[in-house]
This record gives sequence, C-alpha cells and structure tokens, in this order.
Amino acid sequence: MSNNQKETKNYPNKGKSLPVEKSIKDTVFNIFKKALEENIFDALLIPAKVPDTDAYSWILLQDESLFDIADPLPPVMTVQGGRALSSFSKNGELGLKIAALLRPCEARAVIELFKLHQVDLDNMTLITIDCPGAMPLADYMNDPKKIADSFKKISEKWEISESLRPACQNCHRFSLMDGTGPDLHIGLLGENNKVTLIANSPEGNDLLEKLGFESKDSLDKWKTEKEKLVKEKTKKRESFLKEWQEKTKNPDGFFNELNKCINCHNCMNACPICYCQQCYFDSQMINFKPEIYLKKSREKGALRFPLNTMLFHIGRMSHMVLSCVACGACEDACPVSIPVGRLFSMVGDKTQKQFDYVPGLNREDPLPLQIFKEDEFCEVETPNECEEKATEEVK
Ligand code: SF4
Ligand code: SF4
Ligand code: SF4
Repeated sequence: MSNNQKETKNYPNKGKSLPVEKSIKDTVFNIFKKALEENIFDALLIPAKVPDTDAYSWILLQDESLFDIADPLPPVMTVQGGRALSSFSKNGELGLKIAALLRPCEARAVIELFKLHQVDLDNMTLITIDCPGAMPLADYMNDPKKIADSFKKISEKWEISESLRPACQNCHRFSLMDGTGPDLHIGLLGENNKVTLIANSPEGNDLLEKLGFESKDSLDKWKTEKEKLVKEKTKKRESFLKEWQEKTKNPDGFFNELNKCINCHNCMNACPICYCQQCYFDSQMINFKPEIYLKKSREKGALRFPLNTMLFHIGRMSHMVLSCVACGACEDACPVSIPVGRLFSMVGDKTQKQFDYVPGLNREDPLPLQIFKEDEFCEVETPNECEEKATEEVK
C-alpha cells in the first residue's frame, strides 16, 4: 500500500512579481477583478466577512462590488474551504469556470476530496496563498476586534505565535509544496511590498498568460524566506509530535484526552474529509433495544452515556486519517476544547508515514488503500518471516 510518493515536481523557477499598491488585499483583488471582467472565470469562491457582523463565511462571488467584504486571509477559519467547495461541486459537472482562493491546508483537502470523487476539478482553478495561520474560533468569538487586531500583527511579522490555533503553530505546509496541488500560488513571503504569482500547472500558466503576465521574475527571495519558515515550523511540528506521542503512548493517555467528549460530532461535521452523507455513528444501526443496554449495564456494573464515544473517534480515525490534512477545523469546532485536531494530526502523521503518503500533495497519487505491494507490511501478515529477515539484515 506504499505509494513511494516523492515530491515529484520541482518548484517553478520563475513567477510574476507585482508591486503592492494600496494593500496586499487590493493587489490580489485587482487580479481577480480582471479575471472576472475578461471572463477568464465566471465566479470566485473566497472567504468574506458577513456585513454588520463579526462572522466570516464563503461566497461564490460574481458581483465585483462584493470584493468590499471579501478577505483572502481572514483571522479565523469558520468553515474549511474544502468543505465549502465540495458542497457545491460534488453533485454534477460545473457549468461555470470557477476559481477558488484557499489556504494551503484547504487546497490539500480539496485534492483528497477529488480522489474520493467529492469535487469536480474540471472547470476549477485552485489558487493558494502563503498562509500565516488563523486564530482559534472560540477566542475570536469572545472578542472579535482584539483577536482580529492581534492576527493582523502576527501575520505581518509571520510570527509563530502561541495565540494562533495549535494546528497553525505546527503547520509546516503553509505554502506551495513541490507537488501538483494548486494551479496558481500567491507568494507573500520574500520581498516586502510585492505579491508573487507562481503558476504551478499548465492551467496556472494559461491563467497568467490570459491575464497578460509573463513569468520571468526570480523566485529566489520568496523561496529563501519560505524555506526558512518551513524549517522553523518543521522543528516546532517535530517537538509537538514527540510531546503528543509521549502523552498518548498508552491507550489510557489517549482516551484521557477524549474523556470530556460530549459526542456532539461537531468535529466530524467540520472535517472536510468526513464526507459521508449518512455516518454510521449517526445512524440507527448503533441504537439497540432497551434490554440490550440493561444487559450491558448488568454485565459491566454500569453503562456510560453518551454511548460509543470512543468507538466514534476510533471509527472516524480509521476511516479518514490517511487523508487528514492537519487543518485543525475539528479542534476549532469542539465545544469542550478537546485537542482533537492534534490527536488526529499526530495519528495521521504516523499512519501516513507508514504508507509514504502526503495527503493533498499530488493529484495523481492514488489513495494508499487503493493500491498495494505484495511484500509490504510483512510484519503484520507473516511476522516470523519478517523477524528472520530483520535478524539477517542486522547480521
Ligand atoms: S493549518 Fe497551515 S495552511 Fe491551514 S490555516 Fe493553519 S497555517 Fe494555514
Ligand atoms: S481530522 Fe481534523 S485536522 Fe484532520 S482533516 Fe479533519 S478537520 Fe482537519
Ligand atoms: S467536537 Fe469535541 S465534544 Fe464533540 S464529538 Fe468531537 S471531540 Fe467530542
């Protein structure tokens, strides 16, 4: 089942640098306005602030006046972009040409959903942007102005602040990766007062050409700054993984983290990868007649309600963790502050490494459970032979 997945594609060498005139936001929006005016695409999926409220949502924008409320990098991730995109593109072909501006973890979720046949990418241009992270939703809801102001400061400095969501503090995939994910990437790192457009697919090249841009500017400064931050964040991620693997090395440690769970299933509903319309854990199949509960309670001495809390987490994990993109949307949605995103991301990291798989990296890579190699996981199938082989190797 190993993919032997490699970072198969080198970064593009050149891009198009644009000077920031009024603000980064305006510079980015001018590109989109031009693309809409020239019918390069018909609509743009982008986050926006709901007027007269502190709420953020996604809009499928066609009317240019709505750029006033759009925001390429809002302070919070209210709905994971992969979930927003699949909600309107999974039930048939898109008649219109759509562009979607997503954070890198959202675009990676889209790639996984594409492999799971939950999005149609035929008429879709995926655009990502260097992402400074997002703030915890609960903090923002308590004091929107204060948190939005702190986010502004943190993002200006690209600070790995402890005020960011844990998923973002530990995120080393906040920018363009060496893979066939998005069509176009917007680089914000590197040169101050410049926005760099990086075509990452033939469609991305085509888009830049149609916009009248030539990719001839050096990406060196963007790459250097990006790689510096990737290194710093990888270190942070490694210590997070180490700490959480230690904390949960015994089943008790793992289950203790989930003990406060009220079984609301918010984490599942917020997760872009949990796409099943009827989840087993929400179905009647796990409801039994009263006598069964009484029997179980008699056998155990007592029965804890809500039932099946741990089964829910283990079941959800086993269904989707190979595609977990460590976006933290589940953790943001948890009403009792369970570090559920960290748990899934930690288990995801371990499991994905076993399969040599990076979710959302390449569109062409098959999902690990769709392929297999004859000699893999011999430690599970024929442990004795594996042991002999390992001993021989040691000798
Ligand atoms: S997890 Fe990474 S890509 Fe996603 S919002 Fe946080 S920093 Fe950005
Ligand atoms: S389990 Fe959590 S961190 Fe993983 S993809 Fe789903 S929402 Fe994101
Ligand atoms: S959101 Fe939190 S409380 Fe609700 S089911 Fe998930 S972990 Fe449990």
